[in-house]
Amino acid sequence: MPVLTEVLNLKMYINGDWVQAEDGKVNDIINPANGELIAKAPTGGLSETRQAIGAARRTFDSGEWSELPTVERAQYLRAIADKLDEKAEEIALLETLDQGKPLNESEIDVADAAACFRYYAGMITQPDGQTFHVADPMQAMVVREPVGVCALIVPWNFPLLMSVWKIAPALAAGNTIVFKPSEVTPVSAMKLFEILEEVGLPKGVANMVLGPGRVVGNELAESDLVDKVSFTGGTETGRNIMKAAAGNIKKISLELGGKSPNIVFADADIETAIDCTLIGIFFNQGEVCSAGSRLLLEESIHDEFIERLVERAQKIVVGQGKDRETEMGPLVSKQHLEKVLSYIEIGKQEGARLVCGGNRITENGFDKGYFVEPTIFVDTNPDMRIVQEEIFGPVLVVQKFKTEAEAIELANGTAFGLAAGVFTQDGAKGLRVIKKMRAGITWVNNYGPTYNEAPWGGYKQSGIGRGLGTFGLDEFMEVKQININLNVEPVGWYKN
Ligand code: NAD
Repeated sequence: MPVLTEVLNLKMYINGDWVQAEDGKVNDIINPANGELIAKAPTGGLSETRQAIGAARRTFDSGEWSELPTVERAQYLRAIADKLDEKAEEIALLETLDQGKPLNESEIDVADAAACFRYYAGMITQPDGQTFHVADPMQAMVVREPVGVCALIVPWNFPLLMSVWKIAPALAAGNTIVFKPSEVTPVSAMKLFEILEEVGLPKGVANMVLGPGRVVGNELAESDLVDKVSFTGGTETGRNIMKAAAGNIKKISLELGGKSPNIVFADADIETAIDCTLIGIFFNQGEVCSAGSRLLLEESIHDEFIERLVERAQKIVVGQGKDRETEMGPLVSKQHLEKVLSYIEIGKQEGARLVCGGNRITENGFDKGYFVEPTIFVDTNPDMRIVQEEIFGPVLVVQKFKTEAEAIELANGTAFGLAAGVFTQDGAKGLRVIKKMRAGITWVNNYGPTYNEAPWGGYKQSGIGRGLGTFGLDEFMEVKQININLNVEPVGWYKN
């Protein structure tokens, strides 16, 4: 496995040029496993953001990309996927050093990213549009067109994958883009943009600006030259983006936070339920929007289930993501570590009972990184903040229920509605309960798998719109009605 031999010097990509911030400002990018500097990233501001928007606008209006035959756009997307595969080892390692996640999880992300480009390359060349039999002499049809300049803003938890979930459909649809990665994890994004350059994407089609959300992100959401903003991140930021986007009635898609319920009935296959509960909350250190962060357990199995769950959770190997035996890495940053630890304190003060973990790990050199033990709280009630608010770390809160109706009520009892899981061997009950979930992504007898083919997004305050699948492409397209008169002569409605 190659290791990083020097600090990376990141750049922004504007109109086909690699540039630093005009004022020379840089941001240190730290490996959250050991506090080492891995990269220096430019801190872009308003000027760079406006240049990127201008480049995307001019390129879109020129038609150079939007009017390219879809087979040709698809060739670019496939070439990008091939390059991602070629460089998978390097990019996965960088993702792990930047974000903290275990290497095998980064490897899955890179493979999924390549698959996503291929998926949209296939989709964009499929037959499209509709025709309607309307009254003679008219012929009515519908065609779909790109929205225009799209601002794509992503968080730090799956830096590469969240980027690709937006970039692939946006480019496939014929849009030009200004992309903003999280200021915490910009490394894999730069590798991706190097690939976009290598495959010869025309200048100005894809632009990348690095910098703080409240400056760069806000300008992208506000600018009258941007037609659409597609955002993934926290619910509060989503609210700000909605407001900022109101000026020119920009189209918006928001993929926001969650506090997703994972319901286990007494008749479930318990080993499967335990296994999936662990994946649901500890995969990616619990920094997953769709994490099953609330476990709802039927009362009759509660104690035994918790005993076995804790036993398994305590065996999860926490360590540096780059070490092959690691099963859970550090949290992404010191700031986020402090947030998660503060929620653990809140849980204790609220009277929830800690049955697993609850501490920062500091021995054996771990003190240089941001490691937290897999943590489980029981004896909670629905009013507690740890039950209602997104912690976004390896912290599971357990809720108890007696009846199916109570499980449904508890499950739907937060402001969020991103995901939900149900474990039962009664097929009818599984479907019955899932149909009652006010959530956009659901699983029966599993928790977590995602597919490029299936729409991703939430109900309630978990967002607006959907990523991935055909729905994900629709988000980046306008629909145009075309009505053609096949008998060109005056209609004669007005008599004189
Ligand atoms: P965040 O909202 O703080 O930041 C996300 C992005 O928005 C970053 O690039 C940031 O710079 C930018 N930003 C911040 N303030 C902005 C503003 N005022 N205007 C425009 N852009 C701004 O989120 P985060 O802490 O990076 O990520 C964690 C959050 O993301 C969690 O809430 C998680 O649930 C959510 N998330 C959701 C999904 C999903 O698909 N629903 C996926 C991943 C993460």
